[in-house]
Amino acid sequence: MTDTPDRLSASPALATIAVTAGRPARVPGAPVNPPVDFSSTYAGDPDPAHTPGYGRFDNSTWGAFEQAVGALEGGTALVFGSGMAAVSAALTLIPEDRPFVVPTAPYSTTRSHFDELAASGVDVRRVPMHDTNAVVRAVTGDGYQTPAGALWIESPTNPLLHVADLPVVIDAAHRVGAGTMCDNTLATPVLQRPLALGADVVVHSVTKYLAGHSDVVLGVCVVSNARPELIHRLHDHRTRHGAIAGPMETWLALRGIRTLHVRVERAAASAAELATRLGEHPAVSRVRWPGSGAMLAIEIGADPDNPGPADRVVASVRLWTPATSLGGVESLIERRRRYPGESREVPESLLRLSVGIEDVEDLWQDLDAALSGLPR
Ligand SMILES: *Cc1c(COP(=O)(O)O)cnc(C)c1O
Repeated sequence: MTDTPDRLSASPALATIAVTAGRPARVPGAPVNPPVDFSSTYAGDPDPAHTPGYGRFDNSTWGAFEQAVGALEGGTALVFGSGMAAVSAALTLIPEDRPFVVPTAPYSTTRSHFDELAASGVDVRRVPMHDTNAVVRAVTGDGYQTPAGALWIESPTNPLLHVADLPVVIDAAHRVGAGTMCDNTLATPVLQRPLALGADVVVHSVTKYLAGHSDVVLGVCVVSNARPELIHRLHDHRTRHGAIAGPMETWLALRGIRTLHVRVERAAASAAELATRLGEHPAVSRVRWPGSGAMLAIEIGADPDNPGPADRVVASVRLWTPATSLGGVESLIERRRRYPGESREVPESLLRLSVGIEDVEDLWQDLDAALSGLPR
């Protein structure tokens, strides 16, 4: 497997990396795509320097995928069996004897891990990610007894779409020697590359934009090349805990990555247009759109505690699919507070919209009709 440096300029653009990284070496007769490596064991010594050894240690399809994601994020990638497997692995890196700064309302299952860490005695400092001063104070220890040992960033957050000032909060963490981890699922490397800004680890739910077709559940950790010891620890964690990816799913996700930039650009352009129109719709009391990206959150009706009007919109859309998840080619709509585990910070009236790549006028017509309560 090679990045085919003979064909790439010194610093290829992201679109070029998405298409070219993780391809087999170009020799006569070589396939253009890596094969799906369906094997639980490999001939020869189980020595990672020579062979993958065993299917829980490594796999050549993982290698191709990891090369592509590593090149996109600018680090060394390790694929995991789901986004939560990647998040759980990254959380093993925090120093548990020092304070841990986290967002007040991150992805709900990630928050359940923060709750568990707090219950086990870790000093978990919860701050709103978009309140830069509050994040910096919690990280540096200004107003607290000690500085933090680690910072978990999610930006934009899911589903409130709070945006962190990445350069400022990462710099604050560096000043006190705190590690930084960033869940980059919603932004994708097309819009934001935290490792280039000094973060130590990036995690993704590959299930979302990277794979992009709502057909796999997969995760990845990407480690800064300045922190090789963390790569070793995460690889060891994956091997020992066994939270590994299937080769077929990994191959599908790599195929999805080939169009990542095109999908994100198209969906984000549609999201921008929909955000403008939704902002003028009388049924919509608030629109959250971070200014880039393809996720929107809208509040329906005047009362944030009333789920009724939002539920009626979800029940009457026809093109938008009422479903959880995000980042696929098809547009999805969901009222997040229907989950008991969702943060109380999320209004009952909030709908999360994952804008897909359908025609934007068709998407608007469907939403507008549902919002206006028109007979269908
Ligand atoms: C979906 C999601 C996850 C969890 O990923 P899975 O692939 O569902 O395990 C983690 N973080 C964010 C921001 C997500 O949207």
